Amino acid sequence: MAKAHTHRTPPRSRAPLKACGECNLCCKVYDVEDVGKKAGTLCHHTRESDGCSIWGLHPQICQDFKCLWLKHDDLNGLWRPNTAGFVLRLEPNGTTLNVDVDPARPDAWRQAPYYAQFKLWGEGILRSESLVVVYAPEGLYVVTPDEDLFLRTPKRGDILETGMEMTLFGPRPFARVLPAARGRHALRA
Ligand code: SF4
Ligand code: SF4
Repeated sequence: MAKAHTHRTPPRSRAPLKACGECNLCCKVYDVEDVGKKAGTLCHHTRESDGCSIWGLHPQICQDFKCLWLKHDDLNGLWRPNTAGFVLRLEPNGTTLNVDVDPARPDAWRQAPYYAQFKLWGEGILRSESLVVVYAPEGLYVVTPDEDLFLRTPKRGDILETGMEMTLFGPRPFARVLPAARGRHALRA
């Protein structure tokens, strides 16, 4: 599963709105093997009001991580992770948007205005252009315009395969989890 975590100090050129501030959700939702942290639990190095207690010595993966909200000026304060209840992360392929859900707020991604926007972004699967993948506590969902395709929680190295297939009702999106190296999108787990 992807790890990663936090960029606690924003670049100086960034607007104040885009500071991590009180948010520490990426210190919770991801595995960080270097500090023995499992996804879904808050890192024991997290300080209540002052970010990371080992700042400067924190793992490289933490130093490198910036969530999409922090990086993208189009995402306003409603999309701030500790407000939204999830962390947005774009895969290196530039087309897969991962929604990493706070287990304490498992249904926040289904609320307005987020869900309607995920549905719009999810239209990309119809053209094989992009994906929206929600990592929820109960498993993962590939968001499509008509339905959210539910898949079991992946194991490390599993592959997410998606596309369009012909059905009695016409072409429809499909998604399935394959053992490693057989599909197109490696899962974060
Ligand atoms: S989730 Fe984003 S805003 Fe929140 S602490 Fe991590 S990088 Fe900063
Ligand atoms: S080491 Fe620091 S930056 Fe990394 S997850 Fe823990 S609290 Fe967050």
